[in-house]
Amino acid sequence: MEYNFKELAKRLPKENKERLKSLYESAEFVIKEIDYAVCDMKDAKTKYEKEKFLARLFQLNTLLQNLEFAMQGEWGIEKDANYHTWWLKPRNCMCPRMDNTDPVYFGGGKIINCDCPVHGILLCREGGIDITVK
Ligand SMILES: [Zn+2]
Repeated sequence: MEYNFKELAKRLPKENKERLKSLYESAEFVIKEIDYAVCDMKDAKTKYEKEKFLARLFQLNTLLQNLEFAMQGEWGIEKDANYHTWWLKPRNCMCPRMDNTDPVYFGGGKIINCDCPVHGILLCREGGIDITVK
């Protein structure tokens, strides 16, 4: 499934473009919050604090994923988590950007680095939460 976004943009109604703009702004905001949550978690001193920030990180990742689904909705394309790209944007993310956006591989599933402080901790630890589930 490949889309030509330049072509899609030409046919996209003005209202959709406006909603996309606000979705992009929200996503930028959530990404900053994710970076803050990762820093807070590094500074956490107790298990309780760590769990609290981990829960926050999970919520923020879920929120970002929902924003990406909403973006796909505004573009009028299939809602598929495997074609998301914003999740790679947090500054602290250590997942392989190149592999995850390589056209040969793109759409085949997310490649997560277990050492990534944004995603590894949620997905690779025992009983990890799969944030790719819709
Ligand atoms: Zn990551």
